[in-house]
Amino acid sequence: MNADRITEKLSILADAAKYDVSCASSGSKRKNENKGLGNASNGICHSYTEDGRCVSLLKILLTNYCIYDCAYCVSRKGNDIQRAAFTVQEVVDLTINFYRRNYIEGLFLSSGIFKDADFTMERLVQVAKKLRTEHKFNGYIHLKSIPGASDELMREAGLYADRLSVNLEMPTEEGLKLLAPDKNRQDMIDPMQFLKDEIILRKEEKKLFKKAPLFAPAGQSTQVIVGATPETDQQVLQSANYFYQNFNLKRVYYSGYVPVLADKRLPALNTSVPMVRENRLYQADWLMRFYGFNVNEIVNQGQPLLDLDIDPKLSWAIRNMQAFPIDINKADLQLILRVPGIGVQSAQKIVSARKFGKLNWDQLKKIGVSVNRARYFVTCNSPEFERRDLTGNNIKQFILAESQSKYLKNKPNQLNLF
Ligand code: SF4
Repeated sequence: MNADRITEKLSILADAAKYDVSCASSGSKRKNENKGLGNASNGICHSYTEDGRCVSLLKILLTNYCIYDCAYCVSRKGNDIQRAAFTVQEVVDLTINFYRRNYIEGLFLSSGIFKDADFTMERLVQVAKKLRTEHKFNGYIHLKSIPGASDELMREAGLYADRLSVNLEMPTEEGLKLLAPDKNRQDMIDPMQFLKDEIILRKEEKKLFKKAPLFAPAGQSTQVIVGATPETDQQVLQSANYFYQNFNLKRVYYSGYVPVLADKRLPALNTSVPMVRENRLYQADWLMRFYGFNVNEIVNQGQPLLDLDIDPKLSWAIRNMQAFPIDINKADLQLILRVPGIGVQSAQKIVSARKFGKLNWDQLKKIGVSVNRARYFVTCNSPEFERRDLTGNNIKQFILAESQSKYLKNKPNQLNLF
């Protein structure tokens, strides 16, 4: 292996991979058996950079050569950049070497498309197959599925990878047509459907035959790019909701468009998507998946954009003041989950704890409730803190002022140093 050339390829292909945010490694059940290498069932954790991107996996492209010319992508055919391609063996060797040195705990492998979908997918599968069969590697593997690849290759990929993902790229078909006219949304939906069916089938098999092989045990996910096209948060979240409902996705990742290319179809180069929009989309996504919210309660025709000042749960609550206050000692779990300042674990603890007596603010604080928020929306066994004379808008202003003063209190007073 020519070390300098490999280092050069690594810097090109790791840099090109940073635009894909769908690389969290949670949820796999792969175990280390027969003294293999690595273990994805525990010890695989992912850390995040300051802007929320996952960095614990070796995250690279097999190649940044591509036959397509998607306007939003730095690897597009028409972009004049330095190109590189790893061989299958190079990726395998890098993964094993990095793993042994404790640099990484798994592999996230994506690719531009050289020649065609099958040609590229075959190489991605070969990497995973070699790692699993020749090196007995039990670390986490996330493979990108290349839209348009054959069912046979997808099936094989599922036998070796923990997670597979097909990127939707644009939230809507119109957006895709505008920025990637050579691509076809159906080519993305078909492999998702295939994976969904195969995952269900293999789970049933596993119930009957303990030794049946695992198939993509961490499920499938997708990524949508936000802000490259003018879709509203309502369109983005409705699209995500559709794919959660119909394809059993584990996660939808929202990637704020990073303007790297000048193109009249794209936003101007100096207008990047605010990170807070990505954060609000993730918060809304959690409300849909874990808090029992319907997507239309969060965003709808009257409210197509998420409020960037406050989180979507607080935003929903102040638009629905008629639902409050709720009695924390009587309300059912689903209602408690809707209270700003109360998370899933705290809500469950409340329901268990109140069996032994009525809860007051001190007890709610100990349980983990953020009383500064919840106090506007609940009653409990002690009346202090309650404010019933406020409108939703007043509450928003109070909460914003409070978080602002907390921020100012904790902010180091740097200017005084100079
Ligand atoms: S197919 Fe993928 S890698 Fe190629 S230009 Fe489009 S988004 Fe980029």
